[in-house]
Amino acid sequence: GGAAAGADEGEWKAKQRSTAIARGKISTLSIREQREGLPIRKLRDEFIAAVRAHQVLVVVGETGSGKTTQMTQYLAEAGFTAKGMIGCTQPRRIAASSVAERVAEEVGCRLGQEVGFSIRFNDVTSPETVIKYMTDGMLLREYLMDDELKRYSVIILDEAHERTINTDVLFGLLKGLVKRRPDLRVIATSATLDSDKFAEYWFDCPVMRIPGRTFPVTTHYVTQPADDYLELAITTVLRIHVTKPAGDILLFLTGQEEIDDACEKLNSRMKALPASIPELLILPAYGALPAEMQSKIFEPAPAFTRKVVVATNIAEASLTIDGVYYVIDPGFCKLKVFNAKTGMDALQVVPISQASAKQRAGRAGRTGPGECYRLYTQDAFKTEMLPSTVPEMQRSNLAQVVLNLKAMGIPDLLAFDWMDPPAPATLAEAMQNLFALGALDEEGLLTRLGRRMAEFPLDPALAKTLIASVDLGCSDEILTVVSMLSVDNVFFRPKDRQSLADQKHSKFHQPEGDHLTLLCVYQAWKDSGFANAWCFENFLHGRTMRKAHDVRKQLLSIMDRHRLDVISSGKDFTRVRRALTSGFFTRAARKDPVEGYKTLSHGQTVFVHPSSSLFQKGPDWVIYHELVLTTKEYMRSVTAIDPKWLFELAPRHFRKVDTHEISRRKRREKIEPLYDRFNPPDTWRLSKRLM
Ligand code: ADP
Ligand code: MG
Repeated sequence: GGAAAGADEGEWKAKQRSTAIARGKISTLSIREQREGLPIRKLRDEFIAAVRAHQVLVVVGETGSGKTTQMTQYLAEAGFTAKGMIGCTQPRRIAASSVAERVAEEVGCRLGQEVGFSIRFNDVTSPETVIKYMTDGMLLREYLMDDELKRYSVIILDEAHERTINTDVLFGLLKGLVKRRPDLRVIATSATLDSDKFAEYWFDCPVMRIPGRTFPVTTHYVTQPADDYLELAITTVLRIHVTKPAGDILLFLTGQEEIDDACEKLNSRMKALPASIPELLILPAYGALPAEMQSKIFEPAPAFTRKVVVATNIAEASLTIDGVYYVIDPGFCKLKVFNAKTGMDALQVVPISQASAKQRAGRAGRTGPGECYRLYTQDAFKTEMLPSTVPEMQRSNLAQVVLNLKAMGIPDLLAFDWMDPPAPATLAEAMQNLFALGALDEEGLLTRLGRRMAEFPLDPALAKTLIASVDLGCSDEILTVVSMLSVDNVFFRPKDRQSLADQKHSKFHQPEGDHLTLLCVYQAWKDSGFANAWCFENFLHGRTMRKAHDVRKQLLSIMDRHRLDVISSGKDFTRVRRALTSGFFTRAARKDPVEGYKTLSHGQTVFVHPSSSLFQKGPDWVIYHELVLTTKEYMRSVTAIDPKWLFELAPRHFRKVDTHEISRRKRREKIEPLYDRFNPPDTWRLSKRLM
């Protein structure tokens, strides 16, 4: 900072005012004027005519051209809602809810009436709803219930260029459905140039291109790779703020923690600047942000101030923030990546692709000529970044997708009409996993248990745990644990009061492990009468706790519908641990005499996360919920188990080795995984078509 020390306040304000007026920031347009001014407006009639004439249409346009907010309204205005709803899918939850809110405002109705949204565990629609925004995962679940999607007259697969697994699967399913339902209309949108590939896939359908309205963006690179990109990002924000003309700043970071950290640092660094420097509004933007904070990022900054939005890649294409003139791009994002070493997905910070970098830079040129600060070298851009992001299908665990497709009665997954098929080995791995869980039989067909598991909007391991807990007599407790695992981290640990927070949290720690700690936290909150003040005192996120409470209610209603009893184990926590083992035996690990733990399925070295109640204790055998890679590969949410439960509860996966077999080995090697990752049962190898 400090660059503007001594800057003349009067001069700064005058400069800011003139640019602010020139940039149209001071007068705010009415909603109607804003709608009229969007690039898609000129194509309204052409768009409606194209949807009338063709069953499938691909629409390509820059982010912010009005695709998501306007197409649904145009179709509703043209009468397409007479025979069913207009559904619009989004890859991200935050996009579905925030866009619905905006469109409800434009339409002039209350959210949840004519315009609503539906995301996992949160349905804000009513019988009046005609425009429905939802995550692609929710539409997939609706397809599971009704494979004709009779409630819809038009389906918009929005942001299809993101290539999420769910959108890719919907592509294949809807391609079949348009043949069965000649009245159905499907629109796929893209912000990039994949459109030809899309159109070709969709029976060579027409492509509508929305002419862009963008201004040039000047790109700056660093000359030396940055040691600490966060620090560099923060100083760049401050440098822009004190030296550059009006215009908001958009900074891309990788996740909630990093964003909160950056916002805190920016706040304290701003305080240290001379009072003559105008105010800087610092706004975080990530998926888990509460709704009232979310809408703040769209509000224009008051005159003579500037705002900086510190966002994850949700601001790359899903959300458009007007008035951004400066983009800061450190070049990283968090992606779900399938780790072949562990056989699991993990969120990892990875370099973005060149396509993402271009998209990010473009965010600065929507309202006028902008600037983009890339915190990496030009050489890194050319040589270290992939041209485009690998589709999720090719980098994630497919167990849940395979389970859903099987439940939809699609037996032959290799012959499914994929735009880009998943690798057969990944598919086999997912099948193997489902087989071990008991969701598939030797023929690769769905079992009764598998069908039940598909009813729950949960990772197959969690669904299995929940169903198994009924017979194990602890479904009341497991319902709570599963709900707590389905929301973000409830433990609040502010930087300046870490030790106090840790002290409060440690009261809840259970000697058997973290799943029981979560149970204990929820129970204590319940005993307090679900009080928010109680959460505050105990350094727990009240909003996240309430969310877990909602999730629990919804899972409970699914259990009721399928007559799965809710039984309490009382104080018998062994039952709870057994139930967890029956779902998570593929994520079991054993203490290693040399260092940390070794996973049973892949023999990988992992460690207990420092936040775990088992961090000090280190029991011999554990199961874990997930692996997170930071400085080391850590197991998060860990519970101690008795190894004999493994072969009791997962006989398809583990066997007890006969003593004579191990005579030449160490005596304590009593359990051996029978897990052969790329070797499904013989029957599957014989009939590849089952995959
Ligand atoms: P696209 O889908 O083509 O990227 P959108 O329909 O999302 O475009 O956005 C069109 C315009 O609507 C944006 O430029 C922005 O001005 C406005 N807009 C979108 N969402 C919101 C919101 N939540 N609050 C205020 N304005 C919004
Ligand atoms: Mg959009």
